[in-house]
Amino acid sequence: MAHKIAVVTGANKGIGYAIVNKLCSVFDGIIYLTARNEELGLQAVRQLRETNKDAGEKIQFHQLDITNVESIHRLAEHIKKNHDGLDILINNAGMAFKVNDTTPFGDQAEITAQTNFFGTINVCNALFPLLRDHARVVNVTSRAGMLESVKSVEIRQNLTSPTATIEHVSDILSDFIRKAKQNSHQENGYPNSAYGMSKIALTAATFIQQRLFDQKPERDIVVNACCPGYIKTDMSSNKGMGSPDQGADTPVYLATLESNIKSPRGEFVAERKILKW
Ligand code: NDP
Repeated sequence: MAHKIAVVTGANKGIGYAIVNKLCSVFDGIIYLTARNEELGLQAVRQLRETNKDAGEKIQFHQLDITNVESIHRLAEHIKKNHDGLDILINNAGMAFKVNDTTPFGDQAEITAQTNFFGTINVCNALFPLLRDHARVVNVTSRAGMLESVKSVEIRQNLTSPTATIEHVSDILSDFIRKAKQNSHQENGYPNSAYGMSKIALTAATFIQQRLFDQKPERDIVVNACCPGYIKTDMSSNKGMGSPDQGADTPVYLATLESNIKSPRGEFVAERKILKW
C-alpha cells in the first residue's frame, strides 16, 4: 500500500517544527518538513532525528517558499512523482511585522498578505489536486484575525456570504492593501492590522474551501482553520503563554481527525474547540 503523506509548511522552527515532531508519533506515514531556507530545514530534520526516536526516515525535507510559485510547483511535482497523493497539508508558514517596525503600513499590508494569504492559497492551488480521499487540511490562522475586527458590515457580509469565492476574498484583501497604501483602510471599515486582515482572509477562505470539498462529500476531505494560541516563538518575540509543543496540539488534532468525522469541518478551532468566528 502507498505511504500516507503529510506536508507541513514553515517547519524549520516554532510551531511548524513542533507540529512535525508531534506528527512523528501519531501519523503513520512520511512527513515533509518544508522550509524556505534549505540549510535551516535540513538542520531541523537532523535535530528531530536526534531528539525524537519516532522521526528516523519518516521525516523528509523539501524546500518550499510559499511566496515563490516555482518553489511551490517543485514541491507539488515531487509529491506527485514520488507519491501520487497527499493525506495531510498543514499550512503553518506565516509572518508578522514587529510592532516597532518602521516599514510603511501599506507595504506591511502587501508583504504580509503575500505570505499569509496569497502564498498559502497558491500552495493550496498546487497541492489540492493531489489530496487523497479522507485528506485533512489545516490552515493556521489566528485569533488576531476575528471577523468582528472588520468594522464594515458590507465587507463582513462579503467575506462570509454563502456564495463568496476565493477570488472574492482575494479581491477584498487586495482592496485592503490599496486602502492601506492610501492610509484610508480604517475609514473604509478594515482593521488597523496587516497581520489580522491577512488571517481574516485565510479563515474566510477556509470556509469556502470546505464548501468546495463538500461538493464531493464521499471524498471526505476536511479543512479547518485554527489558532494555535499565544505561543512563545520568534514571531511573538518569545512572549507567548504556551510552548511551541502546546501550539502544535490543535493543528495536529485537526490534521488527524478520524474518517467521516461530522465536526469540526470547515470551522475555526482553538484548543480543540470550535469558536464562533
Ligand atoms: P515563527 O516565526 O517561529 O515561524 C514561522 C515559520 O514560517 C518559519 O519557519 C518561517 O521560516 C516560515 N515562513 C515565513 N515565511 C515563509 C515563506 N515565505 N515560505 C515558507 N516559510 C515561511 O512563527 P510561529 O511558529 O509562531 O508561527 C507559526 C504559525 O502560527 C504562523 O502562521 C503564525 O501566524 C501562527 N500563529 C502564531 C501565534 C503565536 O503566538 N506564535 C499566534 C497565532 C497564530 P523562516 O525561519 O525562514 O523565517
